[in-house]
Amino acid sequence: MRILIVEDEVRIADFLQRGLRAEGHFCVVANDGEQGLSLALDGDFDLLLLDLMLPGIHGHEVCQQLRINKINTPLIILSAMDSLDDVVAGLRMGADDYMTKPFSFEELLARIETVMRRSSATAIQEQILKIGPLAFDRQSLRFSVGGRNIKMTAKELAIIELLMSHPGTLFSRERILSNVWGLNMDPLTNVVDVYIGKLRKKIDGEFDNSLIETVRGLGYRLHIESQTDESC
Ligand code: CA
Repeated sequence: MRILIVEDEVRIADFLQRGLRAEGHFCVVANDGEQGLSLALDGDFDLLLLDLMLPGIHGHEVCQQLRINKINTPLIILSAMDSLDDVVAGLRMGADDYMTKPFSFEELLARIETVMRRSSATAIQEQILKIGPLAFDRQSLRFSVGGRNIKMTAKELAIIELLMSHPGTLFSRERILSNVWGLNMDPLTNVVDVYIGKLRKKIDGEFDNSLIETVRGLGYRLHIESQTDESC
């Protein structure tokens, strides 16, 4: 899954990120409310983990703004504010669950499972993404082209998963950057182009045209309709 962690305490953000990565998830961290809201509104995450006491915008406001903007990504609040009033307020603002700090990682995993089970059936259907010859198993993180397994790095997988979840949709470099690297990257970096180049080398193989189309000056999109391998 793609998880957005909105947390200003670096130690906690690192702890969450390390643990969730070990479970096979891909994480992006936002260190304040504004970044968190902006990334979550951009909207390609399967789950949000949200602290409340954040610099910039308070977590309640982030939560409320997301729901007002019809972003229904499952959301779990992780907060040191532990009174009943705080919990009730968080749930009323649209959170799916509320955990008080400190929490055990095992419990967080169990709560994530519950929240994801309750959320839309599409999340379950999409455990294996298949677009033309490309297949990505989000659970085992196996990626294949025409049935052939391809070794990928975490960042390469994150980009291809993003493109595969919205085939045909144009992704600007900025959008890929914020979804895969977070917002702390220099917007002028060419890292996205470098990674698209690496991906093409790995996946294009026998295809005449690249499966990842460049739209000059605008960005990239997955374009595979005419070259779909019939065997998959
Ligand atoms: Ca905080």
